[in-house]
Amino acid sequence: MAEISIEGLVKTYPGGTERATDDVSLDVADGEFVVLLGPSGCGKTTLLRMLAGLELPDAGKITIGGRDVTYQPPHQRNLSMVFQSYAVFPHRTVRTNIGFGLAMRKVPAKAVAEKVEWAADLLQLTPYLDRYPAKLSGGQRQRVAVARAIVMDADVLLMDEPLSNLDALLRLSFRADLKKIVQDLGTTTVYVTHDQGEALSLGDRVAVMRSGRIVQLGDPLDVYDRPADRFVGGFLGSPPMNFLPATVADGQLAVAGHSRPAPAHLPAGDLLVGIRAEHIGLSDDGIEAHVEVVEPTGAAVLLTTRVGTEVLKVSAPPTFRARPGDTVRLDLAPDALRYYDAETQLALSP
Ligand code: ATP
Repeated sequence: MAEISIEGLVKTYPGGTERATDDVSLDVADGEFVVLLGPSGCGKTTLLRMLAGLELPDAGKITIGGRDVTYQPPHQRNLSMVFQSYAVFPHRTVRTNIGFGLAMRKVPAKAVAEKVEWAADLLQLTPYLDRYPAKLSGGQRQRVAVARAIVMDADVLLMDEPLSNLDALLRLSFRADLKKIVQDLGTTTVYVTHDQGEALSLGDRVAVMRSGRIVQLGDPLDVYDRPADRFVGGFLGSPPMNFLPATVADGQLAVAGHSRPAPAHLPAGDLLVGIRAEHIGLSDDGIEAHVEVVEPTGAAVLLTTRVGTEVLKVSAPPTFRARPGDTVRLDLAPDALRYYDAETQLALSP
């Protein structure tokens, strides 16, 4: 069993004024795939490097499979890492690159060869086994790095933005391959990315980080559907969640000039309403909005509209035709409205 338990990890770099991680706690179940998601500088890589043993925390504790590894060196943690830069040895063939870690462990040559062929097959590298990395594409090099990591039969797989050097199309196809491989292996995995699409598609759970802290942890679709605060709603999703000022008075919620009954848990006064672009419909008696930008995406038409001084992104059906300057009428699906405190911007839960 290789469950990970992280408790109260604090790390400040020498000379740094801010904490790179600020009291981070996280449990990862055996075989679970957890994605650390957040903007640049939020502490994702630092957290991963402390898990790997490449950085030591100032305070806190890390256990893997029940064993306290907080101050153990990387090689005593039985984990494999894949980094953003391909980090393959240029002067070794794909075959020797993939088998390198096993050979270092003095695994017999026959067993190494079998394992290398197994991984090469999984990662579609069999035709390239005798090539040198210089003659591989970026995607193939990154496949070599993943193959090299998975042959080690590690308890834990750590990945830091492994897809970010690949072009958009390759990222998508490799992402699905990676998901299948890790699913089939069942290895406990922690994966760092700033790409919300990657986080949603790969993770069993997503931990959204900001300023050295985990601000929300949960099932990707729950986090997408019910952001814990405005930051998460804005960071997750493309386009980001829309936020509109609103007011509750006399049991009525006034938003964008329209009134509707307010949910009982909302306090009277000012608040923020969040709604995703796909939950805004077009209807004849809806809120009047002016179309500013029309972006067909193939699967939908993304409209940037203005309602008074507020901008609302609307995902319209792919057949919808509009031009900048048009007036449309918008309907906010009541069940999809999310409510946030106007000051703290934290979700107001029922
Ligand atoms: P990115 O996506 O840009 O890699 P990140 O979320 O992984 O960002 P970290 O690399 O963990 O963030 O950095 C967290 C904070 O710690 C940042 O403020 C960063 O400037 C600082 N930091 C990171 N590495 C070092 C270092 N070696 N020395 C000093 N400060 C560092």
